[in-house]
Amino acid sequence: MQYFSTRNDRLIHTAAQAMAMGIAPDGGLFVPAQIPTVDNAFLRCLAGLDYRARAVEIMGLYLEEFTREELEGFVTAAYADNFDDPAVAPLRFLDDDTAFLELWHGPTCAFKDMALQMLPHLLTASLRKTGEQRGVCILVATSGDTGKAALEGFRDVPGTRIFVFYPDGGVSRIQRLQMVTQAGDNVGVCAVRGNFDDAQTGVKKIFGDAAFAAELSARGWFLSSANSINWGRLLPQIVYYFSAYLDYVNSGKLELGQKLNFCVPTGNFGNILAGWFAARMGLPVGRFVCASNANNVLTEFLNTGYYNKNRPFHTTISPSMDILVSSNLERLLYLLTDDRRTRDYMALLNAAGGYRVEPETLAALQAQFSAGCCDDRETMDTIGRVFRDKGYLMDTHTAVAAKVLADYRRDSGDGTPAVVVSTASPFKFAADVLGALGQPPAEDPLRALALASGQPVPRPLQGLEDRELRFPGVTEREGMQETVSAFLR
Ligand SMILES: *Cc1c(COP(=O)(O)O)cnc(C)c1O
Repeated sequence: MQYFSTRNDRLIHTAAQAMAMGIAPDGGLFVPAQIPTVDNAFLRCLAGLDYRARAVEIMGLYLEEFTREELEGFVTAAYADNFDDPAVAPLRFLDDDTAFLELWHGPTCAFKDMALQMLPHLLTASLRKTGEQRGVCILVATSGDTGKAALEGFRDVPGTRIFVFYPDGGVSRIQRLQMVTQAGDNVGVCAVRGNFDDAQTGVKKIFGDAAFAAELSARGWFLSSANSINWGRLLPQIVYYFSAYLDYVNSGKLELGQKLNFCVPTGNFGNILAGWFAARMGLPVGRFVCASNANNVLTEFLNTGYYNKNRPFHTTISPSMDILVSSNLERLLYLLTDDRRTRDYMALLNAAGGYRVEPETLAALQAQFSAGCCDDRETMDTIGRVFRDKGYLMDTHTAVAAKVLADYRRDSGDGTPAVVVSTASPFKFAADVLGALGQPPAEDPLRALALASGQPVPRPLQGLEDRELRFPGVTEREGMQETVSAFLR
């Protein structure tokens, strides 16, 4: 399988090169030159397999240069007893027509683990295949969950280092504690004064600085990305859309071949785009419902065709979705148009903060995507109501999707069975979830939520307060590059 940059489809790369590089030299994102397709016989075969075996089959379609043994080794290492549910990504039914796909049973209690437990294996194998001699330093900008998940994935992986920037004050207390107490000899963490987009822009600038790259190279290092712009992040996420569909079929509530909708709480557009790839491959999906919080730039875009980041940035109770520039949208634009137009959109986004797609592109988007948003009040109400009525406890991000799906069903009359993609354990956002259940603020929100919900605190979140604070640092945006340079000294 060959890979192109979204900004130039004449330069061809292998999967290993694409994953080793992370981002293309021209600033574009890597996409496969063709999307493999599957049929119902393949799905029927997959239905009888467990999550790991499904992952080998799906990922193998995109990774011809990797042997089956390699892939089996990766999945056995990535999805093992570091997940607290043997199903890895279990489907929980609310009723016959609605289920939650729980993607947070991994070591950091958020869905990023699904990809970031896999990425280090894909990446280090890719580096071997490309003959890379230098060490790789993973550079991450995080709005909360990616950082911790990447740190866990890469910690003490030989030949790698990892450095994470997060927006100062822009992540939850638990998210911050998880990162600043991170264990491992090859890790670093620092806050940036600014919001997530400032941190992400800073990281992109470091990646784009050729002089800095040359200096690091002379010191035996090169930079790569674990953000969802890396193809190795997106690929493992395609698997769970197949897995959810097949588990729905195995439950007897859906016929194989019948359509299923997915509603996805969206930030950088990586998760929902992985679903779109699954649908393109032949998974019977009706619609994707793109759910946003008050940062509703994608809602406007999918409804009007106008992407406009010139708007107030809201800090919400679903911080992993507090994003104004959804990087992975570039891949979808490229796949629906071409490299020239994608270059133009991204140039306009940089220069003017927005762009408008052509009517036929908007029509293509709307043939597959619906979009909606809700505010913090509605998010809280939804958590409380679903717990009272059905006994199902959701985190703040998942609740945005549950609310947007309910609105979508009411407004469209579309009664297709649907999966709400559940992206974090409710305990990861314990203080807000506790409030949503009508409980007063607690000194120890994790314990209070366990009491109020009758559910145990997930093990990775126990004892956080007692761990050693290793990374208290804060930097200005201008200081990010020097921070990385010092880390690699
Ligand atoms: C990252 C994240 C999201 C957004 O996912 P994208 O792939 O960036 O769209 C949603 N919810 C949680 C809990 C997350 O960590």
